[in-house]
Amino acid sequence: MATCTTEKVTEVIHWTDTLFSFKTTRNKSLRFKNGHFVMIGLTVESKPLLRAYSVVSPNYEEYLEFLSIKVPDGPLTSRLQHIKVGDEILVGEKAVGTLVIDDLNPGKHLYLLSTGTGLAPFMSIIRDPDTYERFEKVVLVHGVRQKAELAYRDYIENELPKDEFLSEIIEGRLIYYPTVTREAFTHTGRITKALTEGNLFRDLNLPQMRPDCDRAMICGSPEMLNEISGILNDFGLTVSPSQGRMGDYVIERAFVGE
Ligand SMILES: Cc1cc2nc3c(=O)[nH]c(=O)nc-3n(C[C@H](O)[C@H](O)[C@H](O)COP(=O)(O)OP(=O)(O)OC[C@H]3O[C@@H](n4cnc5c(N)ncnc54)[C@H](O)[C@@H]3O)c2cc1C
Repeated sequence: MATCTTEKVTEVIHWTDTLFSFKTTRNKSLRFKNGHFVMIGLTVESKPLLRAYSVVSPNYEEYLEFLSIKVPDGPLTSRLQHIKVGDEILVGEKAVGTLVIDDLNPGKHLYLLSTGTGLAPFMSIIRDPDTYERFEKVVLVHGVRQKAELAYRDYIENELPKDEFLSEIIEGRLIYYPTVTREAFTHTGRITKALTEGNLFRDLNLPQMRPDCDRAMICGSPEMLNEISGILNDFGLTVSPSQGRMGDYVIERAFVGE
C-alpha cells in the first residue's frame, strides 16, 4: 500500500457529466517527472481507497492537478466526483510511469496520442521546456466522442500561447489536433483512422510518421494502445520495452479495462 500525504482541494471543474478536473495542494517532498502518475484517493470506511492518476500539472508548479472520469458505480470516482474546495484527498508519495521523454530516442517530431483522460499526462509534457529542447515540433492529438469532452481546449488554444514563460518556447512548435467521433467538428473520426488514412499528416502538412525522425507517446484505453501500437509498428517505429530503456515510442494505460 502506498504511503500517502493528505492534500487540500483548491479548485474543481466539471467539464461534462462524465469528466471533471481538480487542483490540490502539493507536498514539497513529492517529486515527479512530467508524464508520471501517482496513486490518489479518499479514506473510505477508515481505509485508503486509491487509484492511479496521471498528473496534469507540470512538475515545476506548486499545486497538483488531475483530470478524472466519473464512473457511476466506480468505487473511487462515484465518491471523488463530489469533492469540493477545502476537502481532503490522499496523494501517494511516489510517482512512477513509463510516459517520459527520457525513454525516447532522439527525434524531430513528438506525437502525443491520447483519448479521453489519456490527455492528462500530456498536459504536463506540453508545458515542460525540456520537451522543446528535445523536439522541434510537438503534436498533441486528443480524441473524444463529444466536443465538450475536449478538456483544456480553451486553455491550450487561447491561454497557453499567451503564457509569460512558455509562449516563446511553444510558438509555432506546439500543434494541437483535437478530433471528435460523434458530432461535427473541425477534425472528426478516430485517431487510428487519422493515422492510417493520413488525414493527420495532410492536415498538418507533415510527412507520414517514420522511424528516422518521429517519436510518439500513447495514452488511452487498453484497446486504443493496442491498435495504435500496431499502426506505429507498421510505420517502422519500435516501442520502448520497459522503463529506462529507449524506444521510438512509449505507452501508458489511461485505465485498466474490464
Ligand atoms: C497508469 C494509470 C493512470 C491513470 N490515470 C488516470 C487519469 O489521469 N484519470 C482518470 O480518470 N483515470 C486514470 N486512471 C484510471 C483510474 O486509476 C481509475 O480506474 C478511475 O479513476 C476509476 O476509478 P473507480 O474506482 O471509480 O473505478 P474502477 O473500478 O477503477 O474502474 C471501473 C471501470 O471504469 C472504466 N474506467 C476507469 N477509468 C477510466 C477512464 N479514465 N476513462 C474511461 N474509462 C475508465 C474501466 O472500464 C474500468 O474497468 C489511470 C489508470 C492507470 C492504470
